[in-house]
This record gives sequence, structure tokens and C-alpha cells, in this order.
Amino acid sequence: MLKRVALLFSILFAAPPAAAQDQPYQRQARQILERLVAFRTAAGQGQVPRLIAYVQETLRAGGVAEADMVVIPHEETAALIVRIQGTDAAARPILFSAHMDVVDARPEDWERSPFTLIEENGYFFGRGVLDNKTGVTSLISTILRLKASGQRPRNTLVFTFVGDEETTFGTTELIAAHPWVHNARYAINTDAGGGMLAPNGQPLVYLVQGAEKTFTSFRLTVTNPGGHSSRPRDDNAIYDLARALLRVETYHFPVQATALTRSYLGTLGRIVPGAAGQMLTRFAANPDDAEAAEALRHAPEYVGTTRTTCVATMLDAGHAQNALPQRASAVVNCRIFPGVQPETVRQALAAAIGNDSVRIETMGNPRLSPVSEPNPAVDAMIATSIHSRYPGVPITPYLESGGTDGLIYRIAGIPTWATSGVFIKPNEMFAHGLNERIPVASFYAGIEHIHDLAVALGNAR
Ligand SMILES: [Zn+2]
Repeated sequence: MLKRVALLFSILFAAPPAAAQDQPYQRQARQILERLVAFRTAAGQGQVPRLIAYVQETLRAGGVAEADMVVIPHEETAALIVRIQGTDAAARPILFSAHMDVVDARPEDWERSPFTLIEENGYFFGRGVLDNKTGVTSLISTILRLKASGQRPRNTLVFTFVGDEETTFGTTELIAAHPWVHNARYAINTDAGGGMLAPNGQPLVYLVQGAEKTFTSFRLTVTNPGGHSSRPRDDNAIYDLARALLRVETYHFPVQATALTRSYLGTLGRIVPGAAGQMLTRFAANPDDAEAAEALRHAPEYVGTTRTTCVATMLDAGHAQNALPQRASAVVNCRIFPGVQPETVRQALAAAIGNDSVRIETMGNPRLSPVSEPNPAVDAMIATSIHSRYPGVPITPYLESGGTDGLIYRIAGIPTWATSGVFIKPNEMFAHGLNERIPVASFYAGIEHIHDLAVALGNAR
């Protein structure tokens, strides 16, 4: 699930010139995207294996040997791994990842057919064009260009195509455990990271995802003997739950900061105008600045980078209009700062609520992932590639609110940075929603970025 940090901008600059898009590999990339969009690879549709068959056929035609491709079936979906073997057998492989599945789209709700690539007004429209079929296209295009060049990289490059990123990450876990992958030096994820454009198209900032928060939900439940509603009792499941939720609302987790989050907020502080920018700058300089921390706590686009957050998202109570409630429950969803245990958060909520009759259960199996600290050599390669198309744009790592394949790779011990190379305006972000689109120029820039990185990382020492 491609996520971006929405920023508030009103800065005016001149727009950069559009790049030519008439190279044979660019025309081929567009054809590949068109074919990929036509597969309705939503969960339950069984289309991922068909998409993989198309990718394999395309790669075979481009000279990829059968022995360098492996398909891993998993329930109704599958994963594909492709490698280009390096000249240095002792060098650890470098991973490039994209996911083939999409969130479903209902054709009757879209203005255009979601499973047909349509170019209109400088955009490609179609389900998955942003999330993450441009990434899939960039991997395929990069493999084909590397094969066509006849040059072998020093390091083995492994390209991983995930089949269920939007749901369970089952194929990602299988990929991470595969012998071609498990000792990877690091991974580049195409499914997050990217640039922000001002309303006039001027690039403002480029973000590299280096960490994710832990997604965890807690179920709060109050039970009660109940009875007839004409005879109210002093204790009531709905009132008890409501009081508990009000305590959750007013409880704030302690401020946290890492080198990565301070770099991110500090970079934004230099870009965002006015009081908001000042508060970002002050917090980045000193996370103990209580006034700045409090200001950022009230800004939905920044609060998640400064602390663990929890918020009530679902409510369910009572069984009849004329009965006292026997049961009331709510879901509280938390985005936990890296390194904090979900159990610690559960106990903090319990202490804030201060009522033992409210049961608090952890839902599902939260996955904690470590921070991938910035790597100067990789950062330099990302910067060289980005600055070749967007000169001088500030680049910073950031903390994702949670939910990409990077999580699984990081848990497996592979430092992972997400860098799609794709620039969009905040109001062009329609991933998972209606009428998903990507600026045509950004599509080609993303293709170029992954190719540039593969060449640079492939030859890195
Ligand atoms: Zn995605």
C-alpha cells in the first residue's frame, strides 16, 4: 500500500521541462504497464499467476534464462523471483522489490475502466498505476535493459515480485526466506518513497522510506449482566466503554525521536512556510521542546512521526432497543513507534483507562520491524539518480505510518529503503481509491530511477 506524507504547500516556482519519452525501452515500458493493468490482481481474483506467466514470457524474450527465474505458489496467488547473476560470486545480492497485487476496483464506480490503461491530460489512469504496477514495470524494464546491455553487474541483482502485499504478506515472507534472497545486503522497495510536487509542478522534497511504525489494534470490551431497559442499573456497559474511550482520547504517548525522524522533520521545516515550519525546525533541533511537540501533536500530517498514536476506529454495542447492553466493544488502532513493544502500549492504555472491568486484547499478530538507518553509499546513489532529473531537490529519509513489504524484509534482517522515483502532487494521490492515476512524466522518471539504481548498486563495492 503506497503511502505518502501529505504536505501543505502554497509555494510557486517555475515548472521543470518535460523529458522526451520516445526511446524504444520507454515505449516498451508503457506497453508493459498497459498489459499489467489489464490483470485484475485483487485478492480472490486468482489473476496473479497469470500476470507472472506474462512477466516470464516477456523476460524470456529478453534473454533471461529459465534457471534465473523461480515462481513460488502460495494459495491463490504466487511470488516471482528473477536474478541477474553478478561477476563476483562472493558479493551478497541486492534486492529490488515490487508488488503485483492491487486493492480491488469496482468498474461501475470509476469514470474510466479501472483495468484498461488510459492516457489522458498527462496522466495514466488505471488501478495499480501508482500502487504498485509502475514499480513492477520498472523492475521488468530494468531487467530487460540490463540484459540488452550485455554487461554483467559485479553484485548479483535479485528482483522480487510480491503477490499479496495488500493483504497478508504471505508471499513476501516466502521471498524473504528464499536462498537467493535471505542473505541480501539490502533491498530497494519501489512501493513507497517518492517526491512531492508543488501545485505548479515544481519538485519540493524527495522522501526515502527507512522505517515503518507497527500497526496494532486493540479490542476494548465491557460486559454486564444487562436487564430490562425500563429498570436502569448504575453500571452500564455502554457508559463504561464510553468513559474508557474518552480516557484513550485524552491520553498522549510520550514524544520519541530518532536520527531518521529528526532529519525528516528538519527537512520539512526548511520547506513548509510559516509557524508550522518553525515548529518542525524547533522539534527537529530539540525533541524536548514541549511547545513544538504540542504544536505537532495537533497536526495530523506530522504527529505520527513524533510518537505512538492510538485512536478509536470502530464501535459495537447492545442487542436491542429495550434491553440494557450486555456487551460493548470498540477497536482502538495504534501506530507504534519503532522499537516499542505492543504489550507496552496495551499496558499504557490500561493504565490510562484505569478500569479493570474494561478488557483490552491485542488483535492479530503485530509485526515489529527495525529502523533501516541511512546508508551513506546508498543515499549517494539515490541522490545522484534523483538529482539528474530534479536538480537540487532536498532528500530525506522518513518513517512510514505502516504497511509495505519493507516491513517483512527488515524483520528478515535486510535493511530496506523504499524509493520509487515517482513525484506527484499531494492531490494526485489516489492509491486504493477511485480513478487512480500517475503523471505520465513521473511514470518514465520512476522507470529511469530504478534502472539507474540497479546499475549503480550492481557495481557498488
Ligand atoms: Zn503498494
